[in-house]
Amino acid sequence: MRKPIIAGNWKMNKLTSEAVELAREVKDKTGTIADREIVLCPPFTVLSAVKEVIKGSSIKLGAQNMYWEVRGAYTGEVSPTMLKDIGCNYVILGHSERRQYFGETNETVNKKAKIAFSIGLIPIVCVGETLQQREKGETLTVIEEQVKTGLSGLTKEESKGLVVAYEPVWAIGTGKTATPEEAEEVQRFIRKLLGQMFGKENAQAIRILYGGSINPDNISVLMSCEDIDGGLIGGASLNVESFLKVVRY
Ligand code: PEP
Repeated sequence: MRKPIIAGNWKMNKLTSEAVELAREVKDKTGTIADREIVLCPPFTVLSAVKEVIKGSSIKLGAQNMYWEVRGAYTGEVSPTMLKDIGCNYVILGHSERRQYFGETNETVNKKAKIAFSIGLIPIVCVGETLQQREKGETLTVIEEQVKTGLSGLTKEESKGLVVAYEPVWAIGTGKTATPEEAEEVQRFIRKLLGQMFGKENAQAIRILYGGSINPDNISVLMSCEDIDGGLIGGASLNVESFLKVVRY
């Protein structure tokens, strides 16, 4: 049985006081929820402040990106050990905004995923096709390349802890959600690929999230799909009411 994850990706939003307030409200109002994992992924600047607020609760902390070396002359970058040191459990890798605006590739995602595991961080590896790729019928080919290259070289043992997020680029921040059928087709395909890479049994343990305009109205139907094990939530995670409704789907 895979425990669902509801992860809030705050992107480049929230100053310290706003982050602390949101995290505190989420903590206060989710205290009794035990059948799903809640993960908050604030910007680097407020990771420590949010960690302080969620201390003593079961809420987990995630970063939105990192570099693939642990230290050195890499001005402006943040290392996996720094994230671990600050109390992160998770790190989002290969988000489509990183791929689109900052040159993230399947190869850099792979370097990051490997080092994340070696440091004890769980990567949430994002994959997803653009609208143009979907319209050209390339969705599954694109996903296959992202999964196979992005996760290449991970061990079977590591794979069990892995989290993958299917996020169709055309659904992120657009208000257009994939239908449950569209999402499930790709989620099932991803699990099949993971089975080929890491063995069927391990693939059954891997949580595959869906992300793309999830909101309180569409979360339940998406979560009823067999291969959707949670959600990566952008816009709806910035507001306590909508995030709590999503958490309590
Ligand atoms: C995301 O940023 O990962 C995301 C899915 O955003 P939104 O929910 O706003 O579409």
